[in-house]
Amino acid sequence: MGEITKIAVAPPIQVGGSLFTPEQFATIGAALGTNVKIEMTPFKQLYLEVHLDQQELITAQLERSGLEVYPAGFVTKSLIACNFCKGAEEAGLEVAQRLNQSIAGIETPMPLKIGYAGCALGTSEPLLKDISVVKMRNTYEVFVGGEPKGLKTSIAQSLVSGLTEDQLVPVVTTLINYYKANAKGKEKFKKFIDRVTLEQLQQHVAGL
Ligand code: SF4
Repeated sequence: MGEITKIAVAPPIQVGGSLFTPEQFATIGAALGTNVKIEMTPFKQLYLEVHLDQQELITAQLERSGLEVYPAGFVTKSLIACNFCKGAEEAGLEVAQRLNQSIAGIETPMPLKIGYAGCALGTSEPLLKDISVVKMRNTYEVFVGGEPKGLKTSIAQSLVSGLTEDQLVPVVTTLINYYKANAKGKEKFKKFIDRVTLEQLQQHVAGL
Protein backbone atom coordinates (compact mmCIF):
# COMPACT_ATOMS: atom_id res chain seq x y z
CA MET A 1 0.00 0.00 0.00
CA GLY A 2 1.34 3.44 -0.99
CA GLU A 3 1.33 6.58 1.11
CA ILE A 4 -2.06 8.27 1.65
CA THR A 5 -2.57 12.01 1.35
CA LYS A 6 -5.58 14.32 1.53
CA ILE A 7 -6.93 16.65 -1.11
CA ALA A 8 -9.69 19.22 -0.70
CA VAL A 9 -12.51 19.35 -3.22
CA ALA A 10 -15.22 21.95 -3.74
CA PRO A 11 -17.71 22.89 -6.42
CA PRO A 12 -17.08 26.22 -8.19
CA ILE A 13 -18.25 29.47 -6.58
CA GLN A 14 -21.69 29.82 -8.16
CA VAL A 15 -25.23 31.10 -7.84
CA GLY A 16 -27.03 28.66 -5.52
CA GLY A 17 -24.02 28.01 -3.25
CA SER A 18 -22.11 24.75 -2.77
CA LEU A 19 -23.90 22.67 -5.38
CA PHE A 20 -22.62 19.24 -6.45
CA THR A 21 -24.12 17.29 -9.36
CA PRO A 22 -24.90 13.55 -9.13
CA GLU A 23 -22.27 13.02 -11.86
CA GLN A 24 -19.64 14.71 -9.69
CA PHE A 25 -20.43 12.45 -6.74
CA ALA A 26 -20.28 9.46 -9.11
CA THR A 27 -16.86 10.65 -10.33
CA ILE A 28 -15.62 10.99 -6.75
CA GLY A 29 -16.83 7.49 -5.90
CA ALA A 30 -15.35 5.92 -9.03
CA ALA A 31 -12.01 7.73 -8.66
CA LEU A 32 -11.53 6.83 -4.99
CA GLY A 33 -12.72 3.26 -4.96
CA THR A 34 -13.61 1.60 -1.65
CA ASN A 35 -12.25 1.84 1.90
CA VAL A 36 -11.20 5.48 1.78
CA LYS A 37 -12.45 8.32 3.94
CA ILE A 38 -14.44 11.28 2.61
CA GLU A 39 -14.81 14.02 5.19
CA MET A 40 -17.29 16.90 5.10
CA THR A 41 -15.40 19.84 6.59
CA PRO A 42 -17.04 22.87 8.24
CA PHE A 43 -15.55 25.11 5.53
CA LYS A 44 -17.50 23.77 2.55
CA GLN A 45 -14.76 21.49 1.21
CA LEU A 46 -14.75 17.70 1.04
CA TYR A 47 -11.48 16.15 2.18
CA LEU A 48 -10.69 13.03 0.17
CA GLU A 49 -8.06 10.45 1.01
CA VAL A 50 -6.05 9.45 -2.06
CA HIS A 51 -2.93 7.39 -2.67
CA LEU A 52 -0.01 9.72 -3.27
CA ASP A 53 0.89 8.04 -6.55
CA GLN A 54 -2.68 8.53 -7.84
CA GLN A 55 -3.08 12.13 -6.70
CA GLU A 56 -2.42 13.72 -10.10
CA LEU A 57 -4.65 11.31 -11.98
CA ILE A 58 -7.55 11.70 -9.53
CA THR A 59 -7.15 15.47 -9.47
CA ALA A 60 -7.43 15.54 -13.27
CA GLN A 61 -10.56 13.34 -13.21
CA LEU A 62 -12.22 15.53 -10.59
CA GLU A 63 -11.35 18.74 -12.43
CA ARG A 64 -12.74 17.32 -15.68
CA SER A 65 -16.05 16.80 -13.88
CA GLY A 66 -16.12 20.51 -12.98
CA LEU A 67 -14.88 20.25 -9.41
CA GLU A 68 -12.07 22.36 -7.99
CA VAL A 69 -9.20 20.66 -6.18
CA TYR A 70 -7.08 22.37 -3.52
CA PRO A 71 -4.43 21.37 -1.00
CA ALA A 72 -5.63 20.35 2.48
CA GLY A 73 -4.10 21.39 5.79
CA PHE A 74 -2.25 24.60 6.69
CA VAL A 75 -3.44 26.72 3.79
CA THR A 76 -6.05 29.33 2.98
CA LYS A 77 -9.29 27.44 2.30
CA SER A 78 -11.28 28.12 -0.84
CA LEU A 79 -13.58 31.11 -0.49
CA ILE A 80 -16.56 30.41 1.81
CA ALA A 81 -19.13 32.29 -0.18
CA CYS A 82 -22.87 32.92 0.10
CA ASN A 83 -25.55 31.63 -2.27
CA PHE A 84 -25.66 34.83 -4.38
CA CYS A 85 -29.44 34.89 -3.99
CA LYS A 86 -29.60 38.48 -5.23
CA GLY A 87 -28.24 37.37 -8.59
CA ALA A 88 -24.76 37.05 -10.04
CA GLU A 89 -24.30 40.70 -10.84
CA GLU A 90 -25.79 42.32 -7.76
CA ALA A 91 -24.09 39.91 -5.36
CA GLY A 92 -20.71 40.15 -7.13
CA LEU A 93 -20.22 36.58 -8.34
CA GLU A 94 -17.41 37.41 -10.74
CA VAL A 95 -15.47 39.28 -8.09
CA ALA A 96 -15.91 36.39 -5.66
CA GLN A 97 -14.65 33.91 -8.27
CA ARG A 98 -11.62 36.12 -8.96
CA LEU A 99 -10.96 36.45 -5.24
CA ASN A 100 -11.15 32.68 -4.81
CA GLN A 101 -8.64 32.10 -7.62
CA SER A 102 -6.22 34.53 -5.99
CA ILE A 103 -6.44 33.29 -2.41
CA ALA A 104 -7.29 29.57 -2.26
CA GLY A 105 -4.55 27.12 -1.34
CA ILE A 106 -1.81 29.51 -0.16
CA GLU A 107 0.40 27.99 2.56
CA THR A 108 -0.12 29.78 5.87
CA PRO A 109 1.13 29.38 9.48
CA MET A 110 -2.39 28.22 10.48
CA PRO A 111 -5.35 27.41 8.23
CA LEU A 112 -7.16 30.59 7.16
CA LYS A 113 -10.87 30.87 6.40
CA ILE A 114 -11.89 33.64 4.08
CA GLY A 115 -15.56 34.46 3.67
CA TYR A 116 -17.65 36.36 1.17
CA ALA A 117 -21.17 37.77 1.39
CA GLY A 118 -22.93 39.36 -1.56
CA CYS A 119 -24.85 41.82 0.62
CA ALA A 120 -25.00 43.15 4.16
CA LEU A 121 -27.49 40.46 5.20
CA GLY A 122 -24.38 38.27 5.43
CA THR A 123 -26.12 34.90 5.41
CA SER A 124 -22.75 33.17 4.89
CA GLU A 125 -21.75 34.37 8.39
CA PRO A 126 -18.82 36.48 7.17
CA LEU A 127 -18.02 37.94 10.59
CA LEU A 128 -17.08 34.47 11.89
CA LYS A 129 -14.20 34.10 9.38
CA ASP A 130 -10.54 35.10 9.73
CA ILE A 131 -10.94 37.49 6.80
CA SER A 132 -14.18 38.34 5.08
CA VAL A 133 -15.53 40.48 2.34
CA VAL A 134 -19.01 41.96 2.29
CA LYS A 135 -20.40 43.64 -0.82
CA MET A 136 -22.07 46.92 0.08
CA ARG A 137 -23.95 48.06 -3.02
CA ASN A 138 -21.08 49.09 -5.35
CA THR A 139 -18.14 48.79 -2.98
CA TYR A 140 -16.63 46.16 -0.68
CA GLU A 141 -15.83 46.12 3.02
CA VAL A 142 -13.16 43.82 4.49
CA PHE A 143 -13.42 42.45 8.03
CA VAL A 144 -10.74 40.60 10.00
CA GLY A 145 -10.45 38.51 13.13
CA GLY A 146 -13.60 36.38 13.32
CA GLU A 147 -13.06 33.35 15.57
CA PRO A 148 -16.01 31.02 16.21
CA LYS A 149 -14.00 28.20 17.84
CA GLY A 150 -13.35 27.63 21.53
CA LEU A 151 -14.73 29.61 24.44
CA LYS A 152 -13.05 32.92 23.56
CA THR A 153 -14.99 33.61 20.40
CA SER A 154 -14.83 36.90 18.56
CA ILE A 155 -16.67 38.73 15.82
CA ALA A 156 -14.59 40.14 12.98
CA GLN A 157 -13.95 43.89 12.97
CA SER A 158 -14.06 46.22 9.99
CA LEU A 159 -10.59 46.77 8.55
CA VAL A 160 -11.37 48.86 5.49
CA SER A 161 -14.50 49.90 3.59
CA GLY A 162 -15.36 51.56 0.27
CA LEU A 163 -13.02 49.34 -1.76
CA THR A 164 -13.50 49.03 -5.51
CA GLU A 165 -13.44 45.67 -7.31
CA ASP A 166 -9.86 46.32 -8.38
CA GLN A 167 -8.67 47.10 -4.86
CA LEU A 168 -10.21 44.03 -3.26
CA VAL A 169 -7.85 41.24 -4.35
CA PRO A 170 -4.67 43.25 -3.58
CA VAL A 171 -5.97 44.08 -0.09
CA VAL A 172 -6.83 40.47 0.79
CA THR A 173 -3.61 39.01 -0.67
CA THR A 174 -1.59 41.68 1.15
CA LEU A 175 -3.22 40.64 4.44
CA ILE A 176 -2.36 36.98 3.79
CA ASN A 177 1.24 37.80 2.88
CA TYR A 178 1.65 40.06 5.90
CA TYR A 179 0.39 37.29 8.18
CA LYS A 180 2.73 34.76 6.54
CA ALA A 181 5.72 37.04 6.93
CA ASN A 182 5.07 38.19 10.50
CA ALA A 183 3.21 35.45 12.40
CA LYS A 184 5.12 33.96 15.33
CA GLY A 185 5.22 30.23 14.72
CA LYS A 186 1.72 28.79 14.50
CA GLU A 187 0.05 31.96 15.69
CA LYS A 188 -3.65 32.07 14.90
CA PHE A 189 -4.81 34.93 12.70
CA LYS A 190 -6.97 36.47 15.45
CA LYS A 191 -4.07 36.43 17.94
CA PHE A 192 -1.82 37.86 15.26
CA ILE A 193 -4.19 40.79 14.73
CA ASP A 194 -4.41 41.42 18.48
CA ARG A 195 -0.61 41.55 18.64
CA VAL A 196 0.13 43.68 15.58
CA THR A 197 -3.08 45.75 16.14
CA LEU A 198 -5.89 46.55 13.76
CA GLU A 199 -4.49 50.05 13.26
CA GLN A 200 -1.17 48.71 11.99
CA LEU A 201 -2.97 46.39 9.58
CA GLN A 202 -5.07 49.31 8.38
CA GLN A 203 -1.93 51.31 7.68
CA HIS A 204 -0.42 48.36 5.86
CA VAL A 205 -3.29 48.10 3.38
CA ALA A 206 -3.92 51.84 3.07
CA GLY A 207 -3.34 53.16 -0.42
CA LEU A 208 -3.59 49.81 -2.18
S1 SF4 B 1 -25.33 37.33 1.65
FE1 SF4 B 1 -26.96 38.47 0.60
S2 SF4 B 1 -26.72 37.92 -1.58
FE2 SF4 B 1 -25.59 36.41 -0.40
S3 SF4 B 1 -27.06 34.72 -0.15
FE3 SF4 B 1 -27.17 36.02 1.69
S4 SF4 B 1 -28.85 37.43 1.30
FE4 SF4 B 1 -28.24 36.51 -0.68
